[in-house]
Amino acid sequence: MSQTNTAERPELLVVAPLMPFLMEALCREYTIHDRIHVSDPAAFGGVAPRIRGVVANGEAKVPRELIAQLPALEVISVFGVGYDGVDVAAAHERGVPVTNTPEVLNDDVADLAIGLMIAVARRIPQADRFVRANEWPNGPIALSRKVTGGRLGVVGMGRIGQAIAHRAAAFNMEIAYTARSPRPNLNYTYYPDAASLAAVVDFLIVITPGGAGTRGMIDARVLKALGPDGYLINVARGSVVDQPALIDALRNGVIAGAGLDVFVNEPNVPEELRAMLNVVLTPHIGSGTKQTREAMGQLTFDNLRAHFSGKPLLTPVDA
Ligand code: NAP
Repeated sequence: MSQTNTAERPELLVVAPLMPFLMEALCREYTIHDRIHVSDPAAFGGVAPRIRGVVANGEAKVPRELIAQLPALEVISVFGVGYDGVDVAAAHERGVPVTNTPEVLNDDVADLAIGLMIAVARRIPQADRFVRANEWPNGPIALSRKVTGGRLGVVGMGRIGQAIAHRAAAFNMEIAYTARSPRPNLNYTYYPDAASLAAVVDFLIVITPGGAGTRGMIDARVLKALGPDGYLINVARGSVVDQPALIDALRNGVIAGAGLDVFVNEPNVPEELRAMLNVVLTPHIGSGTKQTREAMGQLTFDNLRAHFSGKPLLTPVDA
């Protein structure tokens, strides 16, 4: 679907479903072609030479082939902090900057990570179902796992990882982390890899970027190291966890449970996971509050406006 073309307005290709308030704001300033490359490839061929900007979200794909079809492309603005779906190298080769929405979502994603950790350990969804099914009069529900004072491992101690650690400190947790390099300014114990970290914690929260660098990083070996009393929380990307290995580990008691906001082939979640009682599953809602999505939309918009008015980008992704 394309809005009416007005000559002076830059033309943008939107490659993902966007929140209505962002779409409305974009339509006021730009000529928008909403996913026309998928819905009407013939019409896309006609407008492609005029497309000056691409708007994506954290899950959208902007591959090298698409970038190559847009000779007038000047900027790619991603609604989300993760941009693993965008071929940043291909964009930068063309001199096309990519922007994302860091910082504004740290609190929400950290809140959800802590929420999932407590939900899976204290079995809140199961307890809710127990009450609704009126099982309570038949006797008490089984005991659960204490969170406060537990040992937490954070895989990826960046902006969100630090927001998670800050919250965990209020739960008197012992905090350790892994990343490719230690952060000397942080007072948490560093481990060089996920397996050695998993071996010394009760809860392992994964919050790295997705993409080739982290694919399958949480594998059978890491899960074995986490052990039968350990819980995995993934709020990063589905690709960071070897999902079949996770299903095996959950099924065979290799780990105690998992809280998962992200999956390999979203929005499709394997039936095995959906049937398990020792998991808490959420549909990629890490940043999904009205307040934060509006802040992300504003930053996505402001980056585009900065670009098209010749000002420095607010949050460009590093080359
Ligand atoms: P960030 O500030 O860039 O932090 C990323 C952290 O991961 C850094 O500590 C980095 O440290 C580490 N890291 C990167 N590659 C690694 C590797 N190969 N092995 C081990 N550690 C690695 O990013 P952020 O803003 O915290 O966001 C992190 C990610 O969260 C995003 O990229 C996105 O995928 C995910 N996210 C999910 C949701 C959701 O809805 N569930 C919402 C927002 C973000 P080193 O560079 O030292 O390795």
